[in-house]
Amino acid sequence: MSLNKYIFVTGGVCSSLGKGVAASSIAALLEAQNFSVCMLKIDPYLNVDAGTMSPYQHGEVYVTDDGAETDLDLGNYGRFTSASYSKDNSVTTGQIYEEVIRRERHGKYLGKCVQVVPHITDEIKRRIYLIGEKPEVDFTVVEVGGTVGDIESIPFLEAIRQIIHEKTVRNALSVHLSLLPVVSCGEVKTKPTQHTVKAMREIGIQPQVLICRCSTPMEPEQKKKLALFTNIDEDAVISGHDASYTIYEIPINYYREGINEAILKRMDTQPRTPDLSKWQAIVDTLKHSDKTVRVAMAGKYIQLEDAYKSIDEAVRHGGFENNVKISFKKIDTEEAEKLSDSEFARLFDDVDAILIPGGFGERGINGMVRTARFARENKIPFLGICLGLQIMVIEYARNVLNYADADSSEFRPDSPHCVISLLEEQADVTQYGGSMRLGLSESKIKKGTKIYAAYGTESIFERHRHRYEVSNKYKNELQEKGLIISGTTPDNELVESVEWPNHPWSTGVQFHPEFTSRPTKAGPLFREFVKAALELKENRQPSPSKAE
Ligand code: GLN
Repeated sequence: MSLNKYIFVTGGVCSSLGKGVAASSIAALLEAQNFSVCMLKIDPYLNVDAGTMSPYQHGEVYVTDDGAETDLDLGNYGRFTSASYSKDNSVTTGQIYEEVIRRERHGKYLGKCVQVVPHITDEIKRRIYLIGEKPEVDFTVVEVGGTVGDIESIPFLEAIRQIIHEKTVRNALSVHLSLLPVVSCGEVKTKPTQHTVKAMREIGIQPQVLICRCSTPMEPEQKKKLALFTNIDEDAVISGHDASYTIYEIPINYYREGINEAILKRMDTQPRTPDLSKWQAIVDTLKHSDKTVRVAMAGKYIQLEDAYKSIDEAVRHGGFENNVKISFKKIDTEEAEKLSDSEFARLFDDVDAILIPGGFGERGINGMVRTARFARENKIPFLGICLGLQIMVIEYARNVLNYADADSSEFRPDSPHCVISLLEEQADVTQYGGSMRLGLSESKIKKGTKIYAAYGTESIFERHRHRYEVSNKYKNELQEKGLIISGTTPDNELVESVEWPNHPWSTGVQFHPEFTSRPTKAGPLFREFVKAALELKENRQPSPSKAE
């Protein structure tokens, strides 16, 4: 029989403390004891989903199998646990209000005044129970986005207060994540944490477990002091110090800190011995590996750390499988457009592989086209993801087919040579409509190609999130001039992957292989991409100048 218990993870003091990784690490630790675990993200913003949000502000948009456009934390959940995630695992204020207002318009509230409490909070609880009451789920870890004290999160915290009251702490427990800042004299301060726990208590939730983010492990004295001020037992004050090698060691660190006992004891559940070997294996790989490959990420959202979160992680997973560390060089393609040829070439002097990630809008596109040309001509391992594939095709059309004005109709609809276009612009194909292709779908892979060598099968399933396609009008011409179409949709209609001829390793894919990559099993393209980078590095003379 399943347990149907809940762990609510909230955050205090400030954002960006790594609440997603903390919640995921707790879930991973439970899963390592053979409990069946699921996770849910609550985002208190008014957007219905993350689809319309700029990666500049909010980081990557993560796509699930069923095509939901969600917060990037769902990516962490997928990397840390083996549960599968769908649109039900991501709840926003927008969705809650949309549903309550829809019901109100249909007269479902029988003339009552519709209010935040109980109608909004009931809908929040319904969405939480939809996941947590499934017969197979032992623990649902619910992460509440934002910081305690934010106006937007109040209805969610009120719903959680009600759940804890109804189910009691034995079945619904609050874990609060806070920060221990260091002030100028080097002293670690506990006051902000005392205040954030107080803010939780003011809304009626007494956290049972406290995780403190800090750079070095907490001293026993600090734990004692916090226990005294926060009503949290000392054994449940957990040091959430920075990881030494990788975020994937955090489940191990938490275990050593005693979080497992602290949580399960309070939830009337007998702890089991966890099998943490898969996390330990990753730590060991990084500890003992003496090689690093440098991967250039050439995109337009590079200023924000989280904009390509799943790709960064997937490349690292490729590193784990090849026993190498990864260092990234982020190249802003809008800036790179302005450089002279020799300055541009110098950007790649210390680079072993180049990746162009997904994106929307025309900013930085010519810098990406220039980057793709450089990788093709200088035979540098290259992976193009979604927009990255489209860039490969535009570059090939411009420089090999000699259509100097080749473009995507997304950026230059008036170009006479739109090699990337909307389906309805392609006279012979209209049945797909112009809407975004979202979620998991099948691609048929050609034998003898790089992508076939990576996946080892002719049928693969990956997630999509794009609107434009390689134009069928140019397919033959591109192929005649050597571009290899290595994968298509099963009906042969749409291009799913391409590679360059006479090139050591290149692949462009219309889908997003990063979303299914796992730390314990890298996405096949990332594994092969890093392998090719390593080969280039090892075969290369020290400090070559590819400039001229
Ligand atoms: N903007 C392109 C399209 O809509 C690529 C999208 C992406 O990279 N995810 O087709």
